[in-house]
Amino acid sequence: MKLVKLDQNKNYILTTGPVIDAVAGKHLPKGTLYIEEGRIAAITRQGEAGFNFKYPGREKVHLDLGHLSVLPPLVDCHVHLALDGVDFAAARRRWDNPEELAKQVAHELRDTTRHGILAVRDGGDRRGIALQFRNMVYEGRLEGPLVKASVYALRKPNTYGSFLGRGTPMISLEDTLNDLVWRGADQVKVIVSGVVSFKEYGKVGPVQYSAGDLAVIVNLAHSRGMRVMAHASSDEAVLLAARAGVDTIEHGYFLSPGALELLAERGIAWIPTVVPVAAQLQNPDRQVRYVIEKTVDRQLAMINKAAALGVTLGVGTDAGAAGVRHGYGYLQELDLYRQAGLTPAKIIKCATKNGARILGLDWGRLEPGRPAALIAVEGDPLADTGALGRVKYAFLPFKA
Ligand SMILES: [Zn+2]
Repeated sequence: MKLVKLDQNKNYILTTGPVIDAVAGKHLPKGTLYIEEGRIAAITRQGEAGFNFKYPGREKVHLDLGHLSVLPPLVDCHVHLALDGVDFAAARRRWDNPEELAKQVAHELRDTTRHGILAVRDGGDRRGIALQFRNMVYEGRLEGPLVKASVYALRKPNTYGSFLGRGTPMISLEDTLNDLVWRGADQVKVIVSGVVSFKEYGKVGPVQYSAGDLAVIVNLAHSRGMRVMAHASSDEAVLLAARAGVDTIEHGYFLSPGALELLAERGIAWIPTVVPVAAQLQNPDRQVRYVIEKTVDRQLAMINKAAALGVTLGVGTDAGAAGVRHGYGYLQELDLYRQAGLTPAKIIKCATKNGARILGLDWGRLEPGRPAALIAVEGDPLADTGALGRVKYAFLPFKA
């Protein structure tokens, strides 16, 4: 895999194989893609006249991607860079060892970009680690995807999520939101419910916030230009969060068809994160495996229903959670979407266009004027999404 960090002062001429329109779900014929100042300047078809750059004197970089399919980059709507997905206790110990932590997170970021995932939204950690590494990538000190950081998650004291965020309100909700702005948060993560049980089917930790509190959080966040991602499992938590006007529902295990209709109606996106549950199928305990299998089957059926109802689905892995590796976990999640019965075209749209929209990025469609964030893969992902596991080039339109 070759990572190309686009130089704003160079012009790029890419000979491409089929270009995939992630919205229409079809190929555009082979041609040439021109990049100037980090943006797509033109896409021409074979046999058409060439494009004239605005600054023709600049150095030109020619790349032959004629044997590859070109599409917008993959987006992971839910990760935890502070955790490694292998050993929770070891990851927690690393938080107190800056050198080890830096090595580990650099590795995770590299694994992420190597899989063609060029933007991730982090669900928060108590120490603001994702924020720290977001800045390092942005300043060009580290290779990695664009990171949208939540800093720490909002949670009620003495409830689920102590590693994700500090308990509120130690201070008022308004002071907390101002603190997040001051620290540089890209969005607000709020933990509305506990986690799903691996031992008892359908059981989820209790709801933490009242409808009133959630409405205040959403208002405070939106008036500060931040979106709200809500960790919500159980139908009750999803309905509560959706009615309060959050922007995305994370996890959403055991949500009802009625809740999906509400999400569709309000334009609230759903990030179903199946792989952190499916990964527990490795558990030696038979009862756990039975519960996990049923939980996964239900979630896949609801993904299918969500797609049919027109709910905006984002792809999120919860990478860093037990059993979910950064980068590789994304391919597992895509395969679960395939098992849910979504077509390759639909899966590609969820992974690229919808992800970009959820993160507030002007990516997800390759057309003149948009940032030249793109990947090139071997094979035809519209025929088989397995091709997304064979990323040969990734183009980053920011420094990194
Ligand atoms: Zn999470």
